[in-house]
Amino acid sequence: MAILPIVKYPDQILKTKASEVDEINSEIKTMLSNMAETMYDAPGIGLAGPQIGTSLRLCVVDVGDDEATGRIGRLYKLVNPEIVSKEGRIKYEEGCLSIPGIHEFVERASKIVVKAKNEDGESVTIEAEGLLAICLQHEIDHLDGILFTDRLTGLKRRIVLKKLQKNFLGT
Ligand SMILES: [Zn+2]
Repeated sequence: MAILPIVKYPDQILKTKASEVDEINSEIKTMLSNMAETMYDAPGIGLAGPQIGTSLRLCVVDVGDDEATGRIGRLYKLVNPEIVSKEGRIKYEEGCLSIPGIHEFVERASKIVVKAKNEDGESVTIEAEGLLAICLQHEIDHLDGILFTDRLTGLKRRIVLKKLQKNFLGT
């Protein structure tokens, strides 16, 4: 296993829609393991393919234990994840390993169902709520080239865009 460098804003790969994975081979499995190690090292609760410079629909997520719902934390390694249903609204202050120093409240669905393949190529269905739902939506957004800052609107969006320019582009 290896800890990989995390791609930072404004790298174009973060804006690019990632490609479907055709075959879950040993390379993909190694990549998922390296992504998990990189996520834990950062530390973070999720990491998507584009964030390690790989434009493939891969992500890893581990949000830890959730006392509110009694859910025990576990590591998800997901290939070609997609949201098949969503309901409710929840606001949570998000950050991103690719945009260090920026934290903002983002509104997302509070409950979602995700279908994906696991690293053994088996189909899995995840019924997620709370932080797990938020994190999965954040990571799946990465696979579509969408950053959490793109989800902001109005004045908040303008302020964050200014901060991004100052912190990452030096202008
Ligand atoms: Zn992120």
